[in-house]
Amino acid sequence: MSESDTFRAEVAQWLQANCPASLRTPIVADEMVWGGSRLTFGSEDQRLWFERCRERGYFAPGWPKAYGGAGLTPRQERVFEQEMARLGCRQPQYNLGVWMLGPVLLEVGTEDQKREHLIPIMRGERRWCQGFSEPNAGSDLASLKTAARLDDSGEFYVVNGAKIWTSDGDKADWMYALVRTDAGARKQEGISFVLIDMSDPGVTVKPIELISGKSHFCQVFFDDVKVPVRNLVGRPGEGWAVAKKLLQHERAAMAKFAEGGAPSHDALAVARPYLYGEDGSLREPALRERLAGVLIDAQAFALTSQRLKEQMLARQDVSGLAAIMKLVQTEQEIAKYELLQQAMGLRGLGWEGEAFGTDELAVCRAWLNSKTYTIGGGTSEVQLNIIAKRVLGLPG
Ligand SMILES: Cc1cc2nc3c(=O)[nH]c(=O)nc-3n(C[C@H](O)[C@H](O)[C@H](O)COP(=O)(O)OP(=O)(O)OC[C@H]3O[C@@H](n4cnc5c(N)ncnc54)[C@H](O)[C@@H]3O)c2cc1C
Repeated sequence: MSESDTFRAEVAQWLQANCPASLRTPIVADEMVWGGSRLTFGSEDQRLWFERCRERGYFAPGWPKAYGGAGLTPRQERVFEQEMARLGCRQPQYNLGVWMLGPVLLEVGTEDQKREHLIPIMRGERRWCQGFSEPNAGSDLASLKTAARLDDSGEFYVVNGAKIWTSDGDKADWMYALVRTDAGARKQEGISFVLIDMSDPGVTVKPIELISGKSHFCQVFFDDVKVPVRNLVGRPGEGWAVAKKLLQHERAAMAKFAEGGAPSHDALAVARPYLYGEDGSLREPALRERLAGVLIDAQAFALTSQRLKEQMLARQDVSGLAAIMKLVQTEQEIAKYELLQQAMGLRGLGWEGEAFGTDELAVCRAWLNSKTYTIGGGTSEVQLNIIAKRVLGLPG
């Protein structure tokens, strides 16, 4: 047995012995375990799985042991992810700190920042939210206006302004944010990346109510919030470059979850009885071409995703590819759910109520959610712009 096979066998054995059977099932939003000071568990199994992974550094197996990770090499980390997906294990902790901020701090953070922030994330004690978008700065993020002015002591930035669409801002302990530190500089050059404690005086969080009556979105207001200069990531005016790195991780995480990193409902299996008759033939031959397209696209995406991982392991530049993966994956999800909705008819439109099965409700909710993924993390049009510029080399 090669070294890699031995490692794979060890990982599989550990996962089988330690991941409770109830957590080797498709994840639903209500059962995600979000780290942070408000950490709660819906079941004893969730607590066990969380604690066992924390002990082994498996919240982020590729992070160095010094910061609470497992110190796996990139190849070992890939094997770990593959085995998690193969065995259908749920993520033990959901946290933007794990997927997005952490990798960025590992790359550009100071030693003090790594120690101060990575370790609480790996203990599951600190939840992060993302403060990028503003009322007039979404796709055109570089127009953001939230201002950070250095005070007379030179030790603090005084932050004033507002962020919008902050997912779970009311549950987060800390926010990584883009702020304008130099109003006179050219748009992107005046932006800096700072870490803000949500419990600081002057931070106000207001949940945003949507048509459904609730949402995870918040608006966050900053009123003379004092942020220590040590919470600046990178140098002043380098925030745009830091944010670009972070968005790559966000896009990669979104694509990774589609690949099985977080097992979700097998929507095609739910829709199978609506698509096929008892003799196995398609009920509606007109859907044949679209169904084949959805299946082929999913397979092509999985293979391309594998190639991307190999390129990352070989330390090749994948910045343009991350945009392609985000665009393709989120648009494919919409195409898949629209096909399923059509095949399921009214059964695929249930929002709540006993008349519908849990699986049917899950398909309807996933269909609605699929639309948001083409907006969050940068809209599809914005991804197309990035691809045109960075991959195809077209003029801006
Ligand atoms: C589920 C979800 C979660 C989110 N979570 C967060 C979060 O935690 N933190 C955070 O900061 N933000 C978050 N956002 C906000 C998200 O980043 C923005 O909604 C997104 O960047 C689009 O900005 P906007 O809403 O202002 O739309 P706009 O920028 O106003 O865009 C409106 C439309 O115009 C199109 N458009 C704009 N510019 C161009 C262009 N140059 N070329 C072609 N078309 C263009 C867009 O594609 C879109 O269709 C979240 C959004 C969603 C949906």
